[in-house]
Amino acid sequence: MMTCDEARVLLHALLDGELDAGHAREVETHVAGCPRCAAELAQFRAMREAMSGPNLRLAAPAALRSRIEAMLPAEPSRAAAPSRRSLLRGFAYGTALSAIAATGVVFMVVRSDQDQQVLGDVVSAHLRSLQGDHLTDVRSTDQSAVKPWFSGKVAVAPPVIDLTAQGFTLLGGRLDAIDGKLVAAIVYRRGEHVINLFVAKAASAGHTAARGEAVQGFNTQRWSDQGLHFIAISDLSNDDLRDFHVKFEAGLRAGA
Ligand SMILES: [Zn+2]
Repeated sequence: MMTCDEARVLLHALLDGELDAGHAREVETHVAGCPRCAAELAQFRAMREAMSGPNLRLAAPAALRSRIEAMLPAEPSRAAAPSRRSLLRGFAYGTALSAIAATGVVFMVVRSDQDQQVLGDVVSAHLRSLQGDHLTDVRSTDQSAVKPWFSGKVAVAPPVIDLTAQGFTLLGGRLDAIDGKLVAAIVYRRGEHVINLFVAKAASAGHTAARGEAVQGFNTQRWSDQGLHFIAISDLSNDDLRDFHVKFEAGLRAGA
């Protein structure tokens, strides 16, 4: 088990994506179970976001660009004039982009890579939450007790919606880490089945339709609305989890 001191040393490296998968998981596990370190991580992230505010929108294209560059053939080893070489490289880059635009195939590969990472983290977080007493940091069926608990701990104010009448009991909330980001997890239960609903800041304010996908024996629903990105995961049937999404959205839109 990682101590707070060990975790703190690694928080910046975690944010920078410099940790190998094993260490990243250890730190994330510690952060998930330690409100103090979670708060510190959130503070680091907020500070970083504030510092790079205007450039935030460029982050995704920059990451995409570096992935595309990694796919390009290596530069010829024979020395050419630097200006010519960079010109050639620019040309290759443009050609690769055109090829991608023409086929769309590479884009799908890139996206599914990241998807896999996110969904893998979601499954890990879900499994972790079901072990021992890791399910909730704040345990209450009262939404007005759960909602304020998140304030100051994560970048978003996650909507905590009472769905008891719709057959989904609120159990509470906790902090968790998905794709290297600290997120809010809202926990519901239907019968014997636990639902983890992860809430993070969305890339845009718009609404995207829910996408259902089965991962490692669990069902997931992902959608965005009101500037938030939601991922629900459970061993509920796909129909029941879809029903959860529909009821939650109805509550969200009603401002409940
Ligand atoms: Zn700690």
